Amino acid sequence: MTEFAPVPDFARGPEIPESGYLVTELGGGAYGVTSGLDNTMFLVTKKGVVVVDAPLDLGEKLLVGIEEVTPKPITHLIYSHAHADHIGSAHFLARDGLKIVSHELTAQFIKEAKDDRRPLPNETFKGKKSELNVDGERIILEYTGDWHQAGNLFIHLPEQKILTAIDSFTVKNAPFFRLLFSAHVPAYFDAMDQMLDYDFETVVSGHMSLFGTPEDVQTNREYIRDLRAAAAEALRTVDLGEAAAGVPDDNRQARLKVWMDAVVARATELMPASWDKRLGGHDIFLADNLNAVAWSVFID
Ligand SMILES: [Zn+2]
Repeated sequence: MTEFAPVPDFARGPEIPESGYLVTELGGGAYGVTSGLDNTMFLVTKKGVVVVDAPLDLGEKLLVGIEEVTPKPITHLIYSHAHADHIGSAHFLARDGLKIVSHELTAQFIKEAKDDRRPLPNETFKGKKSELNVDGERIILEYTGDWHQAGNLFIHLPEQKILTAIDSFTVKNAPFFRLLFSAHVPAYFDAMDQMLDYDFETVVSGHMSLFGTPEDVQTNREYIRDLRAAAAEALRTVDLGEAAAGVPDDNRQARLKVWMDAVVARATELMPASWDKRLGGHDIFLADNLNAVAWSVFID
């Protein structure tokens, strides 16, 4: 079995109780909720509750966590994007009168998925921006590009200074596999700059148990820029002919595969070793992330 570095203390986050979930007050009526693997947030308004996503891993514990805070009904469910790990428990929240809000591209993906766990949105918008006003609370939804999946939203609560950007990065950790499976790597790089343009103090980013700060976004931006610099240098210096010398000329796909593996291996050596002390999971996902970045630098 592959050996991994132990989880550093700074990346651990709070202990999850035996109940399997933890609710954290984020201020201004907003709360974060996590299972340890997935997280999201909800906002208690005068008359009800606005929930962002319903992560698969939380299941019905999301409802229990909300009930622990307030007896008010859930009036709105906002889908950050279409992926089942973030909205696969939405069917537990579904009832008559619930407004399910998303970008229309997200609705399209859900329609195609034909998944009973993900009820279709009943309020969608086209274009870049929409704003919800729920009992005087402003919730700004912005689609700036397909940095994770087409239709993905930044969800900004200006009053509470909270930015919800699900699957944008992992707080105190390196990005999960291949930049969290970004659909478009150049847009992923842009997203870090876009996030830092918002006025926020807390960021909810969808995975693990910690909620972050603008500094955490900056750290992720610095990390992915290092990935890109290492990948670019490796692409410049690793020669396909040399790297694939042992592979027959007529097996072109195999030559490409062997070359890219050599590019990733070289880029791995070029990454500053100090990241071990700054982000958890750096060793776990380094090759996956470099592979995604190197292909993007090569073809985008
Ligand atoms: Zn996702």
